[in-house]
Amino acid sequence: MSIFKPKKRFLLFNRGKKKDVPSNILTKCNSCYKLILNKQLEENLWVCPNCGYHFSISAQKRIEITFDAGSFTEMFTEIHTADPLNFKGPKTYQEKLKSARETTGMDEAVLAGVASLNGRRVAVAVTDSRFIMGSMGSVLGERIARLAELAIEEMIPLITISASGGGARMYEGMFSLMQMAKTSAAIGRYQKAGGIYISVLTNPTMAGVLASFASLGDVLIAEPGALIGFAGPRVIKKTINQDLPEGFQRSEFLQEHGLIDMIIERKDLRSIIIRLIEDLWFYKRGLD
Ligand SMILES: [Zn+2]
Repeated sequence: MSIFKPKKRFLLFNRGKKKDVPSNILTKCNSCYKLILNKQLEENLWVCPNCGYHFSISAQKRIEITFDAGSFTEMFTEIHTADPLNFKGPKTYQEKLKSARETTGMDEAVLAGVASLNGRRVAVAVTDSRFIMGSMGSVLGERIARLAELAIEEMIPLITISASGGGARMYEGMFSLMQMAKTSAAIGRYQKAGGIYISVLTNPTMAGVLASFASLGDVLIAEPGALIGFAGPRVIKKTINQDLPEGFQRSEFLQEHGLIDMIIERKDLRSIIIRLIEDLWFYKRGLD
């Protein structure tokens, strides 16, 4: 009987496979789940125009939007990652490095060198969470330490922008843990010599990176909503067997509790760093 036949219109709507959103055109926001045109996101510095969610961006992009156009010169590229433990797992360390290099176009998880910011020469290091979670192995540590030494030698401002969810790089064992002390000591020498160090913490900045150079800035700036901490919230929750406060380890929570100095939206980051350096340099070192 015709009454039990499905309606033709119904069939039309359900025909064919559901199409995926083409990721080269649209991106779904991780916070409000709205679809945004990539072109619009790009123009908005990869910040959701609807809810203000700050997407992770590459180290190359970060340099491009923060410093004077084309002014960055990468340094310390002669230092290459070794495999001191000859680490083997489901994937070897060498395989992981190879795949990270292909994905990011970087040879390590940090770009370090000099750039100009509003015409002033600055020492810069930017980590990238796409490269083995931006974790700190011996190369990343050595590059940060040498950058601090360069900043002492030239007495120029030092800026790091961290996107490191991985902390110390376990594939290098104790060699990676040593980088925490080495980078901290180098930055300590720089600050003692009278330099100004601005540390920007973006999503995520965790573990050994936060517990060393990233938290030592004369000024600590965070992007809105960034996850910043030592152990991750899941580990802490399981260890203490208690629910964590709302917003735990997010920028806003940490500012309220005094760990960071200011939360700055990505569009304002460049101008705020310029202003801070001008003011602090004048305050600390006079007009030079
Ligand atoms: Zn959104």
